[in-house]
Amino acid sequence: MSKVLIIGAGGVGTVVAHKVAQNTDVFTEIMLASRTKSKCDRIAEDIFNRYNVKIQTAQVDADVVEDLVALFKSFGPKIVINVALPYQDLTIMEACLQAGCNYLDTANYEPKDEAHFEYSWQWAYHDRFKEAGLCAILGCGFDPGCSAVYTAYAAKHHFDEMHYLDIVDCNAGDHHKAFATNFNPEINIREITQNGRYWQDGQWVTTGPLEFHQPITYPEIGPRESYLLYHEELESLVKNFPTIKRARFWMTFGQEYLTHLRVIQNIGMARIDEIDYNGQKIVPLQFLKAVLPAPEELGENYTGYTSIGCRIRGVKDGQPRTYYIYNNCSHQEAYRETGTQGVSYTTGVPAMTGAYMFLTGEWTGAGVFNVEEFNPDPFLKKVAESGLPWHEVIDGDLEL
Ligand code: NDP
Repeated sequence: MSKVLIIGAGGVGTVVAHKVAQNTDVFTEIMLASRTKSKCDRIAEDIFNRYNVKIQTAQVDADVVEDLVALFKSFGPKIVINVALPYQDLTIMEACLQAGCNYLDTANYEPKDEAHFEYSWQWAYHDRFKEAGLCAILGCGFDPGCSAVYTAYAAKHHFDEMHYLDIVDCNAGDHHKAFATNFNPEINIREITQNGRYWQDGQWVTTGPLEFHQPITYPEIGPRESYLLYHEELESLVKNFPTIKRARFWMTFGQEYLTHLRVIQNIGMARIDEIDYNGQKIVPLQFLKAVLPAPEELGENYTGYTSIGCRIRGVKDGQPRTYYIYNNCSHQEAYRETGTQGVSYTTGVPAMTGAYMFLTGEWTGAGVFNVEEFNPDPFLKKVAESGLPWHEVIDGDLEL
């Protein structure tokens, strides 16, 4: 008998709710809570109609620890799945400690007033979770999430030493909108307008925003221009796999998207500081979010695939080895199953899977952990059964 509480009713929260409702052998009681309760109610109604599974709903402001603690104590979840925004990570972790709940998220903490993300804030909770005998699982979406579990699987089964890691993330889908982001626009635009960064020989190398790019060929998709970005799992992966000499993250963007982004930046709409508008304080990027298409509404006309994976070089049995592990996900199939597009789907399925691993005793431990610290095998079995099958190419041409 395991109660689960999902916080956040956006695109990712929708998928998590569907997926836990498909696994009621483990998730025996489900609650979905978010800032806007009507969104939770709509998702719960859709799920009831599809699977005859009842989901309780609640309103909560996840910025307020006392409100979270009251909700956690009244519902009593074994695990809280945080798919609200990265700004809420610390308040939700704090509330989990106070109410005695385990924790899982898909994105690391970011302060609202600074586009800066790193694990230090959340890793600092390790001792408190450990002393409380509670588990916090960080970064359990696709990237971070599957990307890190793929790397752990490679280390366990295919390498004696990994040396070069490239995480390659392609969205070859078309949502038929002039401009939209696939997950929360504010978080997305903050992420990609920052400087790039990669790990090389024991230190971080900083690049200009989207400065380095090259075509990378994705399976069943073909070549796509791919841009070097900083991505949070690089930080934990180089710590947990210290033989890695170079670790980079690449993401594809179309020209149309980049042109819109440049205009948004040039006209000041990507600003995250408050401005005064007719006597009211607004943050331009938050205002922009309000007028852009919502990620959870992109699904209906979305065609094409995402393709995300890890390309790794290293040594096995004294011989050079290359290894590529990836998933391709269809936006249309994701929409048919959950009413959301592929990026929400590829994030929500691993989040459910991580919680499933914890509740079934496959992933255990007291403290704060990144997903690559757990056994990758049962996770990869379950994530494939749950809609994200993965493929591997051993000793192929990695291009990178
Ligand atoms: P959305 O913006 O679609 O949804 C966020 C949800 O959180 C909304 O329902 C929002 O409420 C709710 N929320 C925001 N602030 C609060 C608050 N203070 N209290 C309660 N609820 C709140 O985002 P996505 O679903 O696209 O993304 C969710 C998370 O997943 C993000 O953290 C994102 O970074 C992460 N992500 C991770 C990926 C990975 O692969 N690891 C990939 C994609 C996303 P309201 O409806 O009222 O606005």
